[in-house]
Amino acid sequence: MEDDAAELKRWLRERAQQLGFHLFGVAPAVTPTGYHRLVEWIEAGYAAEMDYIPARLSAYQHPDGVMDGTRSLVMLGFPYRTVEPPPADALEGRVARYAWGTADYHDLIHRRLKQLKRELAARDASIGVRGVVDSAPLMEREFAQLAGLGWTGKNTLLLNKLEGSYFFLACLLLGVDLPADPAHHSDHCGTCTRCLDACPTDAFVAAGVLDSRRCISYLTIEHRGPIPRELRPQMQDWVFGCDVCQDVCPWNRRGSVANDPALQPPVPDQQLDLVGLFDLDDDSFRTRFRKTPLWRTRRRGILRNAAIVLGNQQASAAVPALCKGLADSEPLVRGAAAWALGNIATGAAWAALRERSAIEQDPTVRAEIDAALSSCS
Ligand code: SF4
Ligand code: SF4
Repeated sequence: MEDDAAELKRWLRERAQQLGFHLFGVAPAVTPTGYHRLVEWIEAGYAAEMDYIPARLSAYQHPDGVMDGTRSLVMLGFPYRTVEPPPADALEGRVARYAWGTADYHDLIHRRLKQLKRELAARDASIGVRGVVDSAPLMEREFAQLAGLGWTGKNTLLLNKLEGSYFFLACLLLGVDLPADPAHHSDHCGTCTRCLDACPTDAFVAAGVLDSRRCISYLTIEHRGPIPRELRPQMQDWVFGCDVCQDVCPWNRRGSVANDPALQPPVPDQQLDLVGLFDLDDDSFRTRFRKTPLWRTRRRGILRNAAIVLGNQQASAAVPALCKGLADSEPLVRGAAAWALGNIATGAAWAALRERSAIEQDPTVRAEIDAALSSCS
């Protein structure tokens, strides 16, 4: 029986590697020791508006909350680093590396997990199995650490000595006991504090504790309403996500380069053109982004972010695009465009704000326009 389990693990490791997972480890199905930290983190309000986390809190207590009868967790890492990012020129916005490709990584990874599940079922159809990629109530980093894949850095991400942190974590929950790998107990951050020091919004309240309410990744992707005014300048050029606390990490100086075509940026030496986004209606936005990670924010979220980045860049060439934003059907976009035009502060920007002020009905947008115009006077 032990031999069977060891052989099954050896086979899974080999197949996972052939499918592109560079990291593989097995953890037992236990209550994660960090569960109480998750509870404290939520109680402190650091989960912001991600209500789906507290709503499923009890499920995080044990992998049974994801698949009843789980005995082992196969933890997997799939690299997503491709080319090195070019600087963002004026009128361009930066997108976090994981989202550069033409496919959503959930689809990319799930396809591989499904393949593994099919092959596993062909070997033994009686084994319960479920594949997850970051959307299930599972403390994936805890289990990855238990499976020996690495340690949780001060930037809260899983770090592996060979791969750094630019990889997706995935998990195959199995209803069978597999030999567990030794847990990774050591921490290799040492006295380094680069990620904490470099964060543009001071989102770390302590080493390893992130206040999502201040994190650019959260604000640009998960947050649905207007971005808090005081954090807009710190967003700098980030239009979707943020890689600062990974880019500065010494463990990311090396690591595998992903060769999957779906992860490559469409134009390797260019960041996202922001001006062109304001010409996309719902249908054209859907056509362009439906299969990419950027779809998560929908058009209104991306245009809100794009307006703020253009406002931060203060390029007068952005005014015509922002005027379109000021007339957008979405109040969220109009409000962000008003703020950006106030920041750019050219005669054309003021004229557009005054013109809109005469007809704007939405109270939140009116407040943005008034605030922008008050800096003019
Ligand atoms: S993703 Fe960016 S904003 Fe968020 S914690 Fe890291 S550096 Fe700070
Ligand atoms: S930047 Fe330094 S402190 Fe932060 S995660 Fe990397 S090694 Fe750890």
